[in-house]
Amino acid sequence: MITQKVQESQTLALLGKVRAMKAAGEDVVSFAAGEPDFDTPIQVIEAAEKSMRSGNTRYVASQGQPNVREEVSRDARDRLNAPWVQAEHVLVTGGAKQGLYLLLDSILEPGDEAMIPVPYWVSYPGITEVVGGKSNFVKTQEANGYFPTVAELDAAYNPKVKALVFSSPSNPTGCMIDAEQLREIGKWCIEKRVYLIYDELYERLVLNDSKSHVSLFSLFSKKESEYLFSVNACSKTLAMTGWRLGWIVGHEDNIKRLTAIQSQMVTCYPGFIQDAVVAGLDAAPEFLPPVVDAYKARRKKIVSGVNAIDGLKCVEPDGAFYLFVNVEAVLKRKGWADDKAFAANILEEQKVVVIPGSSFGMKNWIRLSFATSEQEIERGLERLKKFCS
Ligand code: PMP
Repeated sequence: MITQKVQESQTLALLGKVRAMKAAGEDVVSFAAGEPDFDTPIQVIEAAEKSMRSGNTRYVASQGQPNVREEVSRDARDRLNAPWVQAEHVLVTGGAKQGLYLLLDSILEPGDEAMIPVPYWVSYPGITEVVGGKSNFVKTQEANGYFPTVAELDAAYNPKVKALVFSSPSNPTGCMIDAEQLREIGKWCIEKRVYLIYDELYERLVLNDSKSHVSLFSLFSKKESEYLFSVNACSKTLAMTGWRLGWIVGHEDNIKRLTAIQSQMVTCYPGFIQDAVVAGLDAAPEFLPPVVDAYKARRKKIVSGVNAIDGLKCVEPDGAFYLFVNVEAVLKRKGWADDKAFAANILEEQKVVVIPGSSFGMKNWIRLSFATSEQEIERGLERLKKFCS
């Protein structure tokens, strides 16, 4: 029988509901989007068309075309200060999610555990459980940006633990890990032989000028990389969520093994999309600055708007496009049970869509996405204020 181990992604289910409400003509303001509202760069579309017209419509290498692996590795060396990364350390995947699935599926034997710091991106436990593993949730603290300390990892560790997975910039908090924290976590993983899966999907969307993204392989050498993986994609950075292309970077021997599994699973990802991604990565330095500026302006608006509402408290995000908001005081005042009740009531009363924090492991919180126009943010904030008063 087909397994019923997991439910559909809760955020994707909600996005489907929002689409249906909008299609029915309802005046919905959605803070649910997990995707940019910008168009894919035109260079990407043109490159895909050119590639298809020139006949790149057949099977290509399972590991990914050389041009995209070269481009990703050059970017790792030149921009991310990871001097040893070469094309052989890169595997092309179907977006970050399939990369995460492939890794967790390859690492976890039935009953093995993946450590997942809380709050987490909604699919880490879902993927872990569908591949037969168990989620081992790790407590974190706000003071550490919700990233685990070595003491917190030690407290949660047992010999069944085989992987640790988290994102920076984080979905849902927008917090970014610093070099010291990441070095400590990486060293701990290497020592314990726990695979570190570092999800860097939002690394080019840094919104706090005093922060910069730390790449895993800028801190660890090729020799030290056996238990380390980075997962990335152009979904969020280049507004390419529908193109489904990402990559894993890791030790050459691991990449070879993962490629073998990939070859039995999907054969390859479309060559014309890979050509388009190369054009997208080339266009990134020109495409990104106005996009990042727009997110910065939206972040400013939404943070000050939320902070001005009595009973709401938010984590100021350093990157990505999410605001994680504590709604506990409002729940108490209104006598509502939890974040799910908050989300259901605001949808009902104000036609505002928010994602309950329990999807990310934190009850009494909600996540607001600001991948939407400033005008929509203003409309949403007005309704949120009315709702909370
Ligand atoms: N990791 C994180 C932290 C995400 O937020 C998402 C998408 N919401 C993914 C992975 C999946 O990305 P992709 O669309 O590239 O599969």
